[in-house]
Order: sequence, then C-alpha cells, then structure tokens
Amino acid sequence: MPGETSLHVVVLGSGVIGLTTAHVLSTRYPECRITIVARDLPDDLSSQAWSSPWAGADWSPMGEYEELRYKREAKTFNKLWDMIPTGLVRTLPSRICYTQEVDSDKIWYKDLVRDFRILPKEEVPSGAASGVAFTTVSLNPGLYLPWLKSELDTRGVTFIKKKVYSIGEVAEIAGPKGVVINATGLGEYFIVLLNYLKLIHKTGARSLIGVQDKAVYPIRGQTILAYAPGVQEFLSYPLGLASVPTGQATYMIPRPSPPGHVLIGGTFQEDNWDLSIDFDIAKAIWSRCLELAPGLNDKETKILGHNVGLRPARRGGARIEAEWFKMPLKSEFLPSPDPLEKEHDFLVIHAYGFGPAGYQGSWGAAEEVVDILQATLFPNV
Ligand code: FAD
Repeated sequence: MPGETSLHVVVLGSGVIGLTTAHVLSTRYPECRITIVARDLPDDLSSQAWSSPWAGADWSPMGEYEELRYKREAKTFNKLWDMIPTGLVRTLPSRICYTQEVDSDKIWYKDLVRDFRILPKEEVPSGAASGVAFTTVSLNPGLYLPWLKSELDTRGVTFIKKKVYSIGEVAEIAGPKGVVINATGLGEYFIVLLNYLKLIHKTGARSLIGVQDKAVYPIRGQTILAYAPGVQEFLSYPLGLASVPTGQATYMIPRPSPPGHVLIGGTFQEDNWDLSIDFDIAKAIWSRCLELAPGLNDKETKILGHNVGLRPARRGGARIEAEWFKMPLKSEFLPSPDPLEKEHDFLVIHAYGFGPAGYQGSWGAAEEVVDILQATLFPNV
C-alpha cells in the first residue's frame, strides 16, 4: 500500500469486528498506524453495552445461502479451524434439528463444515422433522477478545477508551489524512426503562451523528452459562418448533475452555432492548435443554451465570461499504463549524450490523474491509 506509513486508520469499536479488522490490517500493512477508539474495550467483559462478550460463540449455519455472506463465513470457518492448535478454538461435534424435511441440495454449508451427514430418522429428536450432524468450531469470547487485543498490543496498535457522539469526532482523532472504520455494532444506546409508563427510550448505531442508520436493531439474547461437563456437543432446536415459544430457540454451545463451560440458550427477540434477566425465560430455556441433552442433568452441573446481550442486527444485512464525508461535519445536531475551517473529504468504511453471526463472519468481514480500503485509496495498486 503506497504511503502506508503516513496513513492513520482509526477503528471505532473494539468488538470482534473492530479487533479482527485491526488484526488483518496490521498483518497486511505492518507500517500502517492504527488506533482503536471504543467505549467498551476487551477488558470490559461484563458490560452489556456491546455484544461481543455475550456470544456463544460458535460457527453455526444460519438462513438461506447468500453469496457474500457465504464467502465471509467460509473464510472465517477455515481461519478458525486453522487456529484449533492454539487452544483458543475447539472442534465441536454438532446436531441441528429442523421443523421441515431437509433438502440436501439446499444445504449450502455441507462442504464447508466437517463430517456432514443427514440424521437417520431414529436419531431425530421428537418434535423435529429432520436433522443434520457435522463438526464445527467454537471459542470463548472471554479469552478470545483479550487474545486479539494482546496481539494488537504487540503490533503497536493504540487503544483509546472513549465514547464518541459523531463521526466527525473520530475523524478529528484520525487527522486530515486518516481513515475511520466504523465498527460500532448497535452503536451508542442508552435505555431508560420507566416501568410505570412502560416507556422504553433508546437510541442505536443510528445515533452516531453522521451515520444515524435507522435499519440497525437489536436481537435480544438471553442465555445461561453453566459448568456442564456432561454436554460435549453443540445441540440446537431452531425457532419455530411447536414447543418453543416465539422468539426463543434451544441450543447448547460447549466452549474450548475453561473445561466443561457451556453456553445454554436462548432467545432471539427482535427489537427488544431489555437488558434485565427474565427468570421465566431462564426456567423455560433450562427445561428445554434438559430434554434435549440429558447430560445436563449430571450431578456435577452448576449454573455459573445468567446473561443478556443484544445482537447488533441490521435490516438488509450487515453493512460493509465506503462512504465519503465532508469535514468538518455539518449536522442539525452539531453547532455550525467555523466558516474559516477548510473543508476536506474524509473516508469512512462501515462494518456493522452482523446480528447473530459476528464471530463467524469476522475474519472474512475484516478482509473485505481492508480490500475496500485499498481499492478506494489506492485503486491502481
Ligand atoms: P460489538 O461487540 O457490539 O462492539 C461494538 C464496539 O463499538 C464496542 O467496542 C463499543 O464500545 C463500540 N462503540 C459503539 N458505539 C460507540 C460510541 N458511540 N463511541 C465509542 N465506542 C462505541 N455470533 C457468532 O458468530 N456466533 C455465535 O454463536 C453467537 N452467539 C451469540 C449469542 C448471544 C446471546 C449474543 C448476544 C450474540 C451472539 N453472537 C454470535 C453475535 C455476536 O456477538 C455479534 O455479532 C458480534 O459480537 C458483533 O460484534 P461487533 O464488533 O460488530 O459489535
């Protein structure tokens, strides 16, 4: 990348997307100066204001085939598979059940995961119509995010803990020759719950002045973290089974470490910003999972915590694209800029809205962002 030594890239956001993007950028262009600015950093693992600490996190196929998403997730699957020897990632035998017969030709991920097979009828749990088995990967966000940060520390990446209100603020940190990567997930949101009036007040990535993307929305995920050494398989009943209430699913994700840790879920509640634990839901999750995995009934099993996180989703899918802004930023929400200040164009590359699949798309998404950066700034290289 010509001029890479003078290029300053500011990554706004320190979730799995921001960190992985900085990792790919610093691998491809070791001379590039990189700063990460974020309200929540990888040691803020108990903050509910970002999504990454609360993920499963495994690679699990979701939805129909989409070319772009496939490329992103295939790259990530292969990268995570290669990381197994590090101990940060484990292989995970898996079974997923469906409410309809599966059409083997439409299973877009069957050549990507390992050991894929359609379950014979006698192995399909009651309530489901069909199922598949395969080997995938999982990781523990509580270990993986600090690992990403430590990698970046050794590469000289600077971290600044700061909440910003506008894209212009980050552009100032980057300087006139800088670039911003906007990896803010749901972005800045605050929730005022006035139970009496049943009024929920919230703002999202949509609230970052300059971006204000109204397509961004949360998918609430409530889970239980357990020590359950009797559960060694990723098991999943999807949404929509008659026995599963709307907005809920049934899944168990064993983690690589600490040994025996399993994330048990869960909910997929769209447009729900509630960060408190609903114990009726917790009870329902636990009893559905017990039915699916008798190993959860082991006398050694212990509940380690109840969690709620918000998946940063976006109507229309994740946004990975370049946008040029005029600086200083003009907005009805900001004071008028100094008329003497010289205007200049400023590049922002957006990378947000990954919903339930931020980990499993992270390495592919990061490659895409860096490709866009290079193609936009240095099209002839
Ligand atoms: P985030 O992790 O939300 O990070 C956003 C960053 O931007 C943070 O650093 C935040 O502080 C910063 N930021 C935002 N606004 C501002 C601001 N105004 N100023 C400064 N900083 C700001 N994904 C999978 O792939 N596999 C799974 O198995 C899986 N399971 C999940 C289970 C649950 C229960 C949940 C909740 C999520 C799950 N996910 C899973 C989804 C995954 O967690 C998200 O897709 C991913 O974490 C999104 O990462 P991100 O970096 O885009 O956003």
